Amino acid sequence: LNNYGIDIWSDENFIIEDGLAKVNHKCKPSLISLVRQIREQDFKGPLLLRFPHITKKQISTLYDTFNNSISEYNYKGNFNAVFPLKVNQLPNFVHPLIKNGEEFNYGLEAGSKAELVIAMTYNNSNSPITVNGFKDKEMIHLAFIAKSKGHDITVIIEGLNELETIIQVQSETNLPCPNIGLRVRLHSGGSGLWAKSGGINSKFGLSSTEIIEAYELLEENKMLEFLTMIHFHIGSDMNSIKPLKKALRESGHIYAELKNLGATSLNNINIGGGLAVEYSSYERTRFYSLREFASDVIFTLKDIAKQKGVDEPNIFTESGRFISAGSTVLITPVLELFSSEYDLKHLNLKENNPPLIAELNALYTDMIKRTAYEYMHDAMDHMESLLTLFDLGYIDLQDRSNAEILTHQIIKKAIALLEVEDYEDLKKLDENIQEKYLLNFSMFQSLPDYWGIDQEFPVMPLTHLDKKPTRSASLWDITCDSDGELPFNSQRPLYLHDVNLEKEDYFLGFFNVGAYQDTLGMKHNLFSQPTEVNVVFKENEVKLEKIIESQKIIDILDDIDYDTRDIKDRLKENLDTNTYQILKKYLNENSYLKTTWS
Ligand code: PLP
Repeated sequence: LNNYGIDIWSDENFIIEDGLAKVNHKCKPSLISLVRQIREQDFKGPLLLRFPHITKKQISTLYDTFNNSISEYNYKGNFNAVFPLKVNQLPNFVHPLIKNGEEFNYGLEAGSKAELVIAMTYNNSNSPITVNGFKDKEMIHLAFIAKSKGHDITVIIEGLNELETIIQVQSETNLPCPNIGLRVRLHSGGSGLWAKSGGINSKFGLSSTEIIEAYELLEENKMLEFLTMIHFHIGSDMNSIKPLKKALRESGHIYAELKNLGATSLNNINIGGGLAVEYSSYERTRFYSLREFASDVIFTLKDIAKQKGVDEPNIFTESGRFISAGSTVLITPVLELFSSEYDLKHLNLKENNPPLIAELNALYTDMIKRTAYEYMHDAMDHMESLLTLFDLGYIDLQDRSNAEILTHQIIKKAIALLEVEDYEDLKKLDENIQEKYLLNFSMFQSLPDYWGIDQEFPVMPLTHLDKKPTRSASLWDITCDSDGELPFNSQRPLYLHDVNLEKEDYFLGFFNVGAYQDTLGMKHNLFSQPTEVNVVFKENEVKLEKIIESQKIIDILDDIDYDTRDIKDRLKENLDTNTYQILKKYLNENSYLKTTWS
């Protein structure tokens, strides 16, 4: 049996029981039962299931772990955290996040004007807001407005020009000034795919000379009281903790130097994000625990504060991937197994067949367990020769069709015969005998990091988990683009079940997709965000809340600025009323496929 690496990536949020993938919470519903409930309401196509209880668990684990370390080391500063909205800005995710974070004063981080508007509208009133990214005067003015609404907001400057703009807005308006943070450009870089966010050549932050200039500028303008935070971020999804330790030492010393220089209000170090998530189904890729991460932060900052004789700073984190990734599962219906085209019922042998085809037929009929591996090998050789014969004009289309059907049937029969004991032998042929699974989703829309940077995501069928998967699988999406494929990789092989979709349905779940995928996704081929649902547990019952259906075709066209009235008027031309009504119905459905099982 195959557990698809669930013990590596699921953090016990999902389990396999009775052959089904289940949510490991309260009444432990199977994912397939949730999918069926949603589909009964006629929401077909791919689904995004969000589990706010998992977000809640992550928030409380983060706070509890840091607060335990604080007690353990008798650390004097406190712990604060904000959620970076860039990681997931969608309301179905954000609203429960804010509600679940209230008891901890969990705040929000904004990196653009639109994100800042979300933060200043919805953030819990006692929770902090931090503002990162490049800012113009309008964005800084927005931060002043947020401050005047009573928010605890810190604008973290990326360059001296931003500080000059703050000073300008301060002098031009009578609004209260937000707190100011300095993002420092550290000498030390991060590790992992996103390491370039930190380091001396990073896009962001102030050099040491600029930090001194910023200090002097604030002093000159009598604004030192607003300087409250030092910030760094060494990159997302850090697989090792070593770069963090270096960054902590560097930023801790900058904090202490500035304090000793006279920055009396400076009392926070913001360590950015970086906490990693396990995405692999094959091996662990995060080489530290949250406890180790927290202890390192507290211990290092305590040590530096003691060395330099300054107060131990409060700590801020902006880890968002850690908070959100596990909360969302993408579910894709399997529409087709490509070998199903090669059903025996289509076999149409002639009275006199070319010798190689007659031999294929004999291999198929005579195959027994002892000969399965050898016959399958022979069949694949014959198939290659037959294709060459077709290209040279020696066999016709009917012969070719018979050859393809027989070869696929031989492979299937061999797998069935060998499945139990000789699985290892079969694996040697993985590359040649894979099955292609067509999935009702768009890779570009729903797994953009797979398409863009080869980010691995755990994938597992929702059912059949008590049966051995026998087909080495490659996955195809429904976009008209060959990049929309997860090819079979013999180093990280994916095996799925040989199912007959005319008799049963088969769904795959992609896990840990709650970070970054939602808004990085794009409408290639005009496939939009799948239908999404919040799965909420009330006592021992499951409620499906806030179902947002995938966009209708007409709305997608409206979104990219087509004149939809013009579209309707033109489509109406030359059609009778009945046909136009049907067409109108199609315009009001989403783009995904809607066949029986989809
Ligand atoms: N804070 C800042 C400034 C960032 O740039 C990022 C993301 O790159 C984050 C926080 C979120 O980090 P993570 O993806 O590790 O949660």
